[in-house]
Amino acid sequence: MSKYWSPIVSELKPYVAGEQPKITNLIKLNTNENPYGPSPKALAAIRDAADERLRLYPDPASTALRDSIARLHGVTADEVFVGNGSDEVLAHVFNGLLKHEKPLLYPDITYSFYPTYSLLYGIEAVEVPLRDDFTIDFSEFDRDCGAIIFPNPNAPTGIAVNREAIERLAASKPDTVIVIDEAYVDFGAETAIPLTRKYPNILVVHTLSKSRSLAGLRVGFAIGQRPLIDALERVKDSFNSYPLDRLAQAGAAAAMEDVDWFELCRRKVMTSRDRLVVSLERLGFEVLPSHANFVFARHPDRDGAELQAELRARSVIVRHFKKPRIDQYLRISIGTDEECDVLIEALADILARNS
Ligand code: PMP
Repeated sequence: MSKYWSPIVSELKPYVAGEQPKITNLIKLNTNENPYGPSPKALAAIRDAADERLRLYPDPASTALRDSIARLHGVTADEVFVGNGSDEVLAHVFNGLLKHEKPLLYPDITYSFYPTYSLLYGIEAVEVPLRDDFTIDFSEFDRDCGAIIFPNPNAPTGIAVNREAIERLAASKPDTVIVIDEAYVDFGAETAIPLTRKYPNILVVHTLSKSRSLAGLRVGFAIGQRPLIDALERVKDSFNSYPLDRLAQAGAAAAMEDVDWFELCRRKVMTSRDRLVVSLERLGFEVLPSHANFVFARHPDRDGAELQAELRARSVIVRHFKKPRIDQYLRISIGTDEECDVLIEALADILARNS
């Protein structure tokens, strides 16, 4: 606290990111990164772009990247907005599209950045409760509101909703902006991007951090009709926000184009997820049905924070959220099969010792 701070800064509960440990001999299953490297073509494109042209400012419109994204998703480049990670895209979304006289709605268990952005931008938010089984109850969104945002699949539960449910919601609220944060959609859920053709109130946000294995490059994008994209461009330009740097633009465009690599890696992750679920269930864990590159699991007899600490002592890091209703759960990112095996062995050892 400082007397120099504005009131909003004093009130902010800054987002606490997952640990990025300095030591390297850990099995890192805590921040939903992809266990496989980025596309070799993306790495080559970044190397090729790293030359004397770095003295020049990059293309402010990220033209080649937006063209690649547009082509792959069957939209036009002017219906694509790009930013430094989907977190930056979301920051512009909160600022430019989610602040209205009526409150913003999002699920009570969801991506923990949403409350932080709401506070930062002075947005009144109402958290709508998930059902007992952690699925989103769309009837809860059927109230007077200014805007709606939710991730699909939801984080940290991994539970997905289908496109029909989203379509019904969008059709029933034509005057309300509905933002779908699809950070994890490529691991088996249905994207709402096709709905943006018909519904001018839908904006879909994606990241290259997960299925395209480029968390370190910081690239995300949004797709929607022109009025929504225009709002984001206006906010970005008013912030004098820098466009993506030259290396990020080159690497991200190549990663989008390398569909074979993308398919290979996401399928490997989904296969490892199925295998991990079976192993966790054998140990007595209850695992929520996941369509993401992580699972959310609890052991009925164990405390989540304690399990996390015991795993950490065995050099395996997973995520735990100190929040009502999910305090017993661990969020475990899908690693390679070898990493998942180390996790399972560690859990078996912990459970055997403490029983
Ligand atoms: N949305 C959700 C639901 C997430 O879990 C994350 C990753 N923490 C993000 C957005 C942001 O991802 P990035 O900024 O790396 O694109």
